[in-house]
Amino acid sequence: MEVKGGCYCGAVRYQAAGDPIFKGQCHCRECQYISGGHPNVVMGMPDAGFSWVKGTPKQFTRSDIPNPVTREFCGECGTHLTTRTPGLPGAALIKVGTLDDPSVFGAPQMVIFTIDKQTFHQLPEGVPAFERYPG
Ligand SMILES: [Zn+2]
Ligand SMILES: [Zn+2]
Repeated sequence: MEVKGGCYCGAVRYQAAGDPIFKGQCHCRECQYISGGHPNVVMGMPDAGFSWVKGTPKQFTRSDIPNPVTREFCGECGTHLTTRTPGLPGAALIKVGTLDDPSVFGAPQMVIFTIDKQTFHQLPEGVPAFERYPG
């Protein structure tokens, strides 16, 4: 598949081609900050097919936790676009809400980090759920 997307203000744009490596819903405490309180939904696309086509995102990596992810976001409007995680090397984890057409996501294949789930979070029915990242 080929997808395009970008941030809320349009300063940063990306495109991605290939088969999704991962489609997930993440309830981790960190994602709750980024999403505004709910889990994040992300689609992992192969790095080889991923490129920034307009602007350059800012990056942030925490230094106070083991194996931190790197989060990439628009320095103008603050929209979080992608995450790179040591747990899934070679993948650009795209925030589904930044796709031009978020409906291409379909549905998550798995739910992760339910250990941090809030009581007001919903789990999709029939989707495997894990306390942390499996494996
Ligand atoms: Zn922006
Ligand atoms: Zn998360």
